[in-house]
Amino acid sequence: MAEKQNIVTIDGPSGAGKSTISKLLAARLHYTYLDTGAMYRVVGLQVARAGLDLDAAGAGEKLARLLETIEMHLAPGAEGEETRAFLAGEDVSEAIRSPEMAMAASRVSAEPQVRQKLTEMQRSLAAGGAIVAEGRDMGTVVLPQARFKFFLDASPAERARRRQAQLSANGVRVEYDELLRQIEKRDKADSSRSLAPLKPAADAVVIDSSSMTIEEVVAFMLQCIDGKQGR
Ligand code: C5P
Repeated sequence: MAEKQNIVTIDGPSGAGKSTISKLLAARLHYTYLDTGAMYRVVGLQVARAGLDLDAAGAGEKLARLLETIEMHLAPGAEGEETRAFLAGEDVSEAIRSPEMAMAASRVSAEPQVRQKLTEMQRSLAAGGAIVAEGRDMGTVVLPQARFKFFLDASPAERARRRQAQLSANGVRVEYDELLRQIEKRDKADSSRSLAPLKPAADAVVIDSSSMTIEEVVAFMLQCIDGKQGR
């Protein structure tokens, strides 16, 4: 088996608190934080801007060209903020966070070409180790050699409530029922796709954060990491 690397993977459905927790954990460990969802969102935005219908005839070639030329760049967000994303130098950090772009990201993420390209980028970003990588397939497909794997879950109702609070902090108002519907739809699509579906890695620690605070989750993860390191 390949040697384990000092990499932490945090996978799980939308709204389980992955971003906040991954960022905090990375800061505590002095590791780099990698938000792979932001990468899928940037591709989703570019596909939407190009007016590319992925279900139309000939879409595969157009998508291949788009992926060859896409210029994406991620930068750490300020404290309490999400990752900043740039598309050909333009700051698209706000644009990629809308519910529409979440669905667009989910749609492009089922395309093998997109997964292949982003998987390669993610592996090269994680090559040096000392990284906390957050996404859906980090522990299962992209970085199976990670030493510390977590799967962070929470009930759909709690995730919709958290997402609503997060969007409202950014000045975006969305009805709770609508968010719950979107979350369930996106989870279903992410879990049922044939390529790199959302599921816990066999060696992941599964955490249900429904009734845990952020600090409790981070403390528990640090305990698991320390425990494994001490072994
Ligand atoms: O985590 P976030 O909500 O930003 O992810 C947006 C979408 O990108 C997810 O719903 C999922 O379809 C896709 N994604 C993925 N694999 C990852 C990260 C995100 O398929 N590693």
